[in-house]
Amino acid sequence: MTITDPIKREIAARHLLRYKICRNCGAKAAITATKCRRCHSKNLRLKKQELRR
Ligand SMILES: [Zn+2]
Repeated sequence: MTITDPIKREIAARHLLRYKICRNCGAKAAITATKCRRCHSKNLRLKKQELRR
């Protein structure tokens, strides 16, 4: 599935990629979170801000 409209794609990417990933267990966490909900690790990273087509 590809989105051809660049504006729509940007909106979609903004919503899909706005979260953090736990480096310890790989769980998704909110962008505002400081620690993992599952394993309580503070080792979080932002999801890479890019969309693959
Ligand atoms: Zn975790």
